[in-house]
Amino acid sequence: MRCEKCKTENNDGSIYCRKCGTPLKRKNLNHANIIPKENNKQDNTIYYLITIIIIQIAIIILLLLH
Ligand SMILES: [Zn+2]
Repeated sequence: MRCEKCKTENNDGSIYCRKCGTPLKRKNLNHANIIPKENNKQDNTIYYLITIIIIQIAIIILLLLH
């Protein structure tokens, strides 16, 4: 990650330039933020489906017991 102001090479994880303190523009940052959100949505969907399956199994068990 190179600073646009002073051309200093910074670490990819750096938010500000280590030399001049200019906020570094990172194209990959937005992309990296999108991926975890998508993963969280997928995880939530899985938990949602598991919850529905458990409830359906519980209903079937209750119907069988009665
Ligand atoms: Zn700089």
